[in-house]
Amino acid sequence: MANDYKDLSGRVEELIRLSSTDLSVSWEGAIRNALNNESVGSSAQIALTAILENIGLARQNSYPICQDTGFLNIYVDYPAGGRESDYTEAIKEGVRQATAKQYLRPNAVNSLTGKNSENNIGLGAPNITFHQWDSPDTRIRILQKGGGCENCSAQYRLPDTLLGAGRDLKGIRKVVIDAALKAQGQGCAPGVFGVAVGGDRASCAKLAKEQLFRKFAERSQNPELAKLEVQLLDDINSLGIGPMGFGGKTTALEVFTTVQDRHPATFYVSVAYGCWAYRNRSLTIKGEEVIYE
Ligand code: SF4
Repeated sequence: MANDYKDLSGRVEELIRLSSTDLSVSWEGAIRNALNNESVGSSAQIALTAILENIGLARQNSYPICQDTGFLNIYVDYPAGGRESDYTEAIKEGVRQATAKQYLRPNAVNSLTGKNSENNIGLGAPNITFHQWDSPDTRIRILQKGGGCENCSAQYRLPDTLLGAGRDLKGIRKVVIDAALKAQGQGCAPGVFGVAVGGDRASCAKLAKEQLFRKFAERSQNPELAKLEVQLLDDINSLGIGPMGFGGKTTALEVFTTVQDRHPATFYVSVAYGCWAYRNRSLTIKGEEVIYE
């Protein structure tokens, strides 16, 4: 690994360039479908047209899709024998270079003083999660979440008497709709909702965020959750919030749900919101081969 350090930092820089400037084709296609679904000449169509034009220009010029290039969440799956400290250093160098080339806005500030590190490196920044797996490959995934959409993420403790949400699928549905209503006018719509149920507070929030790596139209393997995803997509799109909050039929592009076990006395539902600038990418190193997705 130590010999590959320079290669890896360059690959991370390229991963960030792609994530920050080149929206994946499937999500761009989802936005294009939404455009075709909105009424001709509506504010929703105008907003989606501007979004698509922005996506094209960003890709063409390697400019960030949005001025807020987000907080960096990086997930590393690595083979036995890998050293986390080596990966960390290579990733940080990739982040430094990507910031210097303006694929990233300097977004890491000291939480107490507000001082900006100017290179996206700081205490807990980037946020790196390691997982050793049985595969000989290395996979690095990145999720860039802007402040506006991260502020819209939420966690509920059920039962929630104010919302009338109990500890069941109906209750889950109610709180996710509530999160979508509260995101109105904040996280730029149309968005993607990652939903996790169960665990403790921290693991529930983490699992919800990880749902944002799922592929467009990838339904849960659990038939009840798959049905809930379709229902929620319909529920949220019936709210009429629309692209950029201008009204319309498209408020959500996707809803992904998952579940894990919980303590009998707790029932958490976490909602991770991703805006239309849905920046996630992965790179997989398979021997000599490097695959960006
Ligand atoms: S919510 Fe998303 S699209 Fe809107 S400003 Fe934030 S990062 Fe950009």
